[in-house]
Amino acid sequence: MGGDHFLQVRSVKVFFDGALGSRGAAFYRPYNDDPDNIGVLEIRPDHLYDVARAGLLTDMQIAPHAIGMRGNGEWLDQFARALQEHPVDDHRFRSEHAQIVRADDVSRFVELGVIPSMQPIHATSDMSFVEDRIGPDRAEQGAYVWRAFIDAGSIVASGSDFTVESHRPLWGFYAAVTRQDHDGRPMEGWYPDQRMTRAEALRSYMI
Ligand SMILES: [Zn+2]
Repeated sequence: MGGDHFLQVRSVKVFFDGALGSRGAAFYRPYNDDPDNIGVLEIRPDHLYDVARAGLLTDMQIAPHAIGMRGNGEWLDQFARALQEHPVDDHRFRSEHAQIVRADDVSRFVELGVIPSMQPIHATSDMSFVEDRIGPDRAEQGAYVWRAFIDAGSIVASGSDFTVESHRPLWGFYAAVTRQDHDGRPMEGWYPDQRMTRAEALRSYMI
């Protein structure tokens, strides 16, 4: 932790993989609509381990931007190594976005105490192209699965991702509880099993 009684710096975001729309989010298998591409890691996983280790030793919360299954999976791998060597309770390390994860990794978030820091409006902004990018199997398994995270025992922290998205919290709240766009589509919601209740959505934005 750095700073004084005027300003405290508690957290560092580290860019690990890219975004889904531009096919930079990292996966273990290629994009369905770009068969030679598995996305990019901006830094080497062992560098992320060094950053995580430094964060644990200095009480600085590390929050890698991790969007794809590999971005999230490799982050959990590296953090597990660092935490085993330097155990810290209530570390509040996060995955920023945690957008698309392997089903098996949901429980690893809980075990390691890594907080899925999510932006519900990403689901409804991206839903028109998610299945083109990664196919319905990966989308169903782990795309914007805040219900799965909550049921497994994670504390999901929601935000806006302003300036990528609107700052308006109610737009994100609406996406969290409906998984519909502003025209009410799709009618049943996009992968509606993953909806939050209103109380869960409120909690995730306030916590
Ligand atoms: Zn980000």
